[in-house]
Amino acid sequence: MLWRVQRMTRIQWMMMGALAWSAGASGSACSTGDDDGTSPAENETQTPDDEMGGDDDASSTPSPSPDPGDDDTSGGTPSGDDDDDTGTGERTLENCQTSIADDVPDFFRELFHCLEITLDGGSVLFHTVDLPPHRSYYYGEGDPNYEPFDYSRGSQYRPNPNEIVEQDITVMLPLNPISRGLTITGDLVDGMAGTSEYEYHGAPGGIALDGVALFHGFAAPGDDLNEEKYTFDAYNAHPAEQGNYHYHTWSKGPLEALAYSGYTTSTEPGVASVEIYGIMCDGTVVLGCTEADGSEPPTSLDAQGGHVSNIVSEDETVWFSNRYHTHVCEGGREFTPEIQYYKDCGVPMEPPQ
Ligand SMILES: [Zn+2]
Ligand SMILES: [Zn+2]
Repeated sequence: MLWRVQRMTRIQWMMMGALAWSAGASGSACSTGDDDGTSPAENETQTPDDEMGGDDDASSTPSPSPDPGDDDTSGGTPSGDDDDDTGTGERTLENCQTSIADDVPDFFRELFHCLEITLDGGSVLFHTVDLPPHRSYYYGEGDPNYEPFDYSRGSQYRPNPNEIVEQDITVMLPLNPISRGLTITGDLVDGMAGTSEYEYHGAPGGIALDGVALFHGFAAPGDDLNEEKYTFDAYNAHPAEQGNYHYHTWSKGPLEALAYSGYTTSTEPGVASVEIYGIMCDGTVVLGCTEADGSEPPTSLDAQGGHVSNIVSEDETVWFSNRYHTHVCEGGREFTPEIQYYKDCGVPMEPPQ
């Protein structure tokens, strides 16, 4: 039942010089709360204000999103953007707020939307309100982004009781990840929480191209993602108990962001010319049925759909050299990774002994 979101009051995150991400507790995984009535363990962490370095870094113009600093911990309501072109207040890739510093590597600068990204020494810092720039049943009736639940996928599909709530999430990942030297076999990848010291801990485990949280590929202890997946909306995502919306698998959401950046025309998982979904907190990139340049992945992948190779764009820019990444693709690995290939996920994270 445990998952954590980094909620920080008074975040002032653009000012972070030294930072900050006090990693949430361990054992976190997705729980969508449709199994019992107990409330999730609260274990929110806060960023100490005195860690906010005042150094004038090279970050781009801050564009403060709806002030996350207010001491309103009620969760708030999804902020209806009122500056959209349609006048409906619907949140879209066009009107969501994106602020990415000039010194952030191209992969992040070119592909990510609806969030803030800065560099902090050897780390990339993401901050998101985690409101998807697309429609979802989970926005709730009456919201401009609401759409009815898609029951056409089969009788086993039914929504969970949660609704999307604006978040205040910081994810941090190393610019130059250090391998743990693991060979990821079926023994390590079992779809269960709490079975390996090398599992991802904490939530979210990463960030998707459309600014939505990316969770690792297993549910909370006692829950089964293969059951919970039937609560996914039409974008293959759902909110956990505290309203934090997230992906565990392929989705047209990140592909719409990729199309918005001009890297694919189709946004259908499985058939898009390029499928890139996001990146995990340790630097593991999550791709779909293609490599980042649209070529075919090798047939020999590890137990969570992963391998190491250069990650290259269609125009042959090397985004990452010798980078471990996983492929989520129908017929192959269904979920995001569960074993953390690289040592550090955010800082500080409790390292396995
Ligand atoms: Zn989940
Ligand atoms: Zn690959």
